[in-house]
Amino acid sequence: MKKPFVTKEKIEEIIKSGVPTPFHIYDEKGIRENARLVQQAFSWNEGFREYFAVKAEPNPVILKILQEEGCGSDCSSLTELMMAKAVGNTGEMTMFSSNETPDEEYIFASDMGAIINLDDITMIDSYANAVGKFPKKMCCRFNPGGVFKVSNGIMDTPGESKYGMTDEQLFKAFKILKENGVEEFGIHSFLVSNAVTNDYYPMLAKLLFELAVELKKEVGCHITFINLSGGVGIPYKPGDPANDILKIGEGVRKAYEEILVPAGMGDVAIFTEMGRFMTGPYGALVTTAIHEKNIMKHYIGVDACAVNLMRPAMYGAYHHISVLGKEDSPLTNIYDVVGGLCENNDKFAIDRMLPKIDMGDILYIHDTGAHGFSMGYNYNGKLRSAEVLLHEDGSWEVIRRAETPNDYFATFSNLPIYRDLIAEADGWKQEEQKEK
Ligand SMILES: *Cc1c(COP(=O)(O)O)cnc(C)c1O
Repeated sequence: MKKPFVTKEKIEEIIKSGVPTPFHIYDEKGIRENARLVQQAFSWNEGFREYFAVKAEPNPVILKILQEEGCGSDCSSLTELMMAKAVGNTGEMTMFSSNETPDEEYIFASDMGAIINLDDITMIDSYANAVGKFPKKMCCRFNPGGVFKVSNGIMDTPGESKYGMTDEQLFKAFKILKENGVEEFGIHSFLVSNAVTNDYYPMLAKLLFELAVELKKEVGCHITFINLSGGVGIPYKPGDPANDILKIGEGVRKAYEEILVPAGMGDVAIFTEMGRFMTGPYGALVTTAIHEKNIMKHYIGVDACAVNLMRPAMYGAYHHISVLGKEDSPLTNIYDVVGGLCENNDKFAIDRMLPKIDMGDILYIHDTGAHGFSMGYNYNGKLRSAEVLLHEDGSWEVIRRAETPNDYFATFSNLPIYRDLIAEADGWKQEEQKEK
């Protein structure tokens, strides 16, 4: 059974103190405990580092918590780099795994000393033109093409993926970089998203370790790290098997000892860039049931919509829903749980068996801690929600306030009509305050 990490009473306390639904809430205790387990799983590797994929949950408070647990930041844009820098993840604490990268982002990343992960062979020239010189340490992203299989079948099709360099390009890139003074090399690859098998990292590791041995032999370069990137999955559905990070760490260790150690490469550091696995299960979207509609199907309308959590609309992804206070009630009703966008895919659940829902009930949408808030957008003029952090001692704080109409209008050009809009937005805020 999936259980909320926070009580109904705590959620009511948060709402009562002035944080309106919808909002995302994060569980600091869960994030820390899981991060420690990740460190433990790879503690056999001296240089191990998890670079948290900032895009999964780009809030500096969360980045700081993970940094305190030894994690760096994996960035792919200017603002992500800025956040990583602000929490002190400068130098090799940041990995810049970008693609189609503008010059100014390479310059910023280089200035903060981040490790640069080149997505394409043409990026060698782009980087050189932008920055002027190569750093001592660099990484290249590899795409093996074809299909990627583990024991239980095809996991994904790298041949269809836009990322990384071919085998041949990778060898060439390492040669060019070496000739240009790069002394330490890393290999990176990301082949599967949300992999729920303990075999994914070990299989990927084996592939990259064998490649590293070849590269060392042929190019004579010093490979100092292998970056297994992200993709380790979480069980979104109740009853789905969960990944066992300790087993995964052991699987990678086995491949390391079989392939790298005999090749005299026992000093290679293992890096990861997990996002989903680090924060996914430790976040939830809290929303209130505000309408019930019965036509051909039974709908529960909530005050959140796909702009707060896009995964169901975009990928048909399953997110479990608990009705707070009714966790043990029988599942008697079949509902579509929907948001208010003018898009018929704005459904958090389709034909879901749930307890009978009454208006005002609080729904807890599970596993939104990664690729939840961060994929948010403003379609239909909907505003982004607040983010709340639940601390280990049960206290909580707002780590991002909800957007207001003023935020939404703030980027318009300063035409006369803009002043009317702002006056309207300011007035709306005062009305709201008067009501309280
Ligand atoms: C998205 C991404 C990650 C994180 O992926 P998860 O599936 O959240 O683990 C890591 N590295 C890169 C380069 C990414 O694009």
